[in-house]
Amino acid sequence: MILNGCAVVTMNAGRAEYARGHVVVDGNRLAAVGAGEAPAGPDAGYTGARYVDARGCLATPGLVNAHHHLYQWATRGMAQDAGLFDWLTALYPVWAGLDADIVHAVSTAALGWLARTGCTTTTDHQYLFPRGGGDLLAATVESARETGLRFHPTRGSMDLGQSAGGLPPDDVVEDTGEILAATQTAISRFHDPSPDSMLRVAVAPCSPFAVTGELLTESAALARRDQVRLHTHIAETQDEDEYCRSHFGLSPVEYLDSLEWLGPDVWLAHAVHLDDQAIGRLAATRTGVAHCPSSNARLGAGICRARALLDAGAPVGLGVDGAASNEAGSLLGEVRQASLVARAAGGPGAMSVRRALEMATLGGATLLGRDTEIGSLEPGKLADVALWRLDTLPHSGIGDPVAALVLGAPAPLELLLVNGRPVVERDRVITIDEPRVAAAARGASRTLLAKAGVTL
Ligand code: ZN
Repeated sequence: MILNGCAVVTMNAGRAEYARGHVVVDGNRLAAVGAGEAPAGPDAGYTGARYVDARGCLATPGLVNAHHHLYQWATRGMAQDAGLFDWLTALYPVWAGLDADIVHAVSTAALGWLARTGCTTTTDHQYLFPRGGGDLLAATVESARETGLRFHPTRGSMDLGQSAGGLPPDDVVEDTGEILAATQTAISRFHDPSPDSMLRVAVAPCSPFAVTGELLTESAALARRDQVRLHTHIAETQDEDEYCRSHFGLSPVEYLDSLEWLGPDVWLAHAVHLDDQAIGRLAATRTGVAHCPSSNARLGAGICRARALLDAGAPVGLGVDGAASNEAGSLLGEVRQASLVARAAGGPGAMSVRRALEMATLGGATLLGRDTEIGSLEPGKLADVALWRLDTLPHSGIGDPVAALVLGAPAPLELLLVNGRPVVERDRVITIDEPRVAAAARGASRTLLAKAGVTL
């Protein structure tokens, strides 16, 4: 397939951009990326290729979503004015009714919408496994397979219930030993370390107020034994900061540090409440941060110091976070939001549109340990490409295509390739039946709320 005549943002080492360029895809890899039109005719070597007239469009690397909870698509629009702890306390009893059918239905919807907003690779953090709910992790894997996205699910966990001083009710937490066994099984069943992998598993205890120190320590040991990555929530709110200082006598980042939880194989969601010392420590250890600006704003948590992290040398990516705290669930929307909140807090020069886009591409790829395979448009890399249409009414007259994409209205997605395969064409997900998936997600949400006796 040859995308011809589009603007191209490569995100390669020199950050090359072409006002009019081409992208050549051969199988699941990129064969050529350059200026001008791709050669045509019998001597070009592209016999049988599909030429896509991409004039008026911008090709970028497919976006990488570094934090999500797919299951939360079932509980959108609830606890609308609550902060994190009250929001969780309201939703835990509802989530206690999750089962594999519900999770499959809403995960397919959430993944379909991620695809529509330019995402080619996503992680997921499933940390609730109600007894008798079936195989929730397998349900998300199946949704990703159907949708066609590159998937990095995590086996999440909670083992610190209310009776032991944690925030979640006892009936949604698991036994520490059972969690570790189930995590080991998840890695054996699903983790594919091969270079072209569509499926890689990480280990993800939920947060300091929902898991024990023992689980954090044992999870890190397990992940490093099996050479998979580590993920958790940290420093999301002021309440969490106070919880860590009163329970452990340490800041959230110091607490992680004390448990061997910093390093280049770790990425952390949120990291909003960081002092300069914590930023220095994350940078020195090359620990990644998944910045989730809309969710942090929705829950009134604060604004991650993304620019300071980047300046210090820490890898930073973007995450939509679960749709219960970011109903929009749009990864392109997070690029815009990241640029705007950084400026609102730090002035107009705090986050350029290109830096914001870089976090959503190369930044996310680095967090997932895949920056040599995805995150930029370069020959030899995997063919994960987003082609945005910028020649219609909402973007008319914005000369810089990156400014149009990041600061303008949400752009229609002309084409999304994942591993060389079209997943979105002309703003429709072609791998799934969108209306049927929407109806199934609606039904699943209703079922879950009815189980919990919630009426809206
Ligand atoms: Zn989260």
